[in-house]
Order: sequence, then structure tokens, then C-alpha cells
Amino acid sequence: MSKNGMMVILSAPSGAGKDTVFKEISRTRSDVCESISATTREPRAGETDGVNYYFLTQSEFEKKIENNEFLEYASYNNCYYGTPASTVLKLVEEGKICFLIIERKGAQKIMKSYPEAVSIFLMPPDMETLEKRLKKRNTDSEEAIISRLKIAEEEIKSASEFDYIVINNELEKAVDEINEILSTELRKRNA
Ligand code: 5GP
Repeated sequence: MSKNGMMVILSAPSGAGKDTVFKEISRTRSDVCESISATTREPRAGETDGVNYYFLTQSEFEKKIENNEFLEYASYNNCYYGTPASTVLKLVEEGKICFLIIERKGAQKIMKSYPEAVSIFLMPPDMETLEKRLKKRNTDSEEAIISRLKIAEEEIKSASEFDYIVINNELEKAVDEINEILSTELRKRNA
């Protein structure tokens, strides 16, 4: 197995900007990739099956649970979300830094079963900013936003369980900090 391959859990409340941060990191490095999750959530406008998520029905998802096809899965806001095992493990084996952009319960499961995974919690500057970002995104109903904010409060409470906490106030700064974390972790693995 390549020494450079690793799983990086990037967890954050919905609206904290984790997808934007990841996009910016992957724009400048060829050694990172993202695991494409499966979900039973309805696709949002502009989302494509196999690109943003694998969109599955409840029974398709449950069949995959039965067949042990997920590294982890969790229920979030009444939908299932899960990380497909085979692709992620293969990418890590090949030496890739594979980002799992997942919510807290799934992150906790990975930390337990893969203690060598690096875990990063991306913290929004404050709840007001988070609410503004969720509203500006215009992808969720008022009800869904309220529910996501409630979950966010709980998620923020468990930030100290992660190896690193990065505050996403300025995109460039957060990206620099995560790149620095990756350099540190690569140095450790190659020491
Ligand atoms: P959204 O519906 O906004 O795309 O995602 C809702 C939450 O589910 C986000 O916090 C997102 O990071 C998380 N999520 C996405 N994929 C997975 C996954 O495979 N497993 C887990 N546990 N959470 C996921």
C-alpha cells in the first residue's frame, strides 16, 4: 500500500462550505479525490446521479447495507447517506488522499473503524452566518433549513472529537490550513 494514501474525513454542519473548500483544494492538487456517496435524498436542481451522489431508493440502499457495501452509513434529516467501501479503499490503496465529506455520526464510525483516517471539522464562523448561507443557497425549504440548523448545533458540540478544527471564515485561509494539515500528515506517514 502506498504510504501517501489516506482517508480524510471532512465534516461540517450543512452550509458550512465543505464542498466549496474541497473543490478549491482539488483544483490545485492531483493527489486528492472525493468519495461519491449514496443517498436516498431527492436530487436537488442541478445534481447528477453518479456525480454528486448515487441517488438510490430506500430499498436499494437497504440492500446495500445488508450486503455490507458501505464503509459507514447514517440517517440524516430522515434520509440515508453512505460511503461506498470498495472505491474508497481502492483509491487509498493506490496512494490517493480520499476525502469523505460526511456528517458527524458517519465520521464517528470511520474514526472508530479506521483510526488512521485524518479527521477535520470545518467550523462555520457563527450560527448567523450558517443560517444566511443555507438561505442564500436556496436549495432547501424553510422547514428543512430549521432542521439542518438544529442538527448543526449538535454537530458543533462534538467538534473536539476531530483531529483538527478549521474555521471557515475566509475560503482561502481555510484551504491553506487544510493543505498544511495534509502536508503534516504526509510527512508523518513518510518519516
Ligand atoms: P446534503 O443533503 O446537504 O447533500 O448532505 C447532508 C449531510 O450529509 C451533509 O453533512 C453531508 O456531508 C452528509 N453526507 C454526505 N454524504 C454522506 C455519507 O456518505 N455518509 C454520511 N454519514 N454523511 C454524508
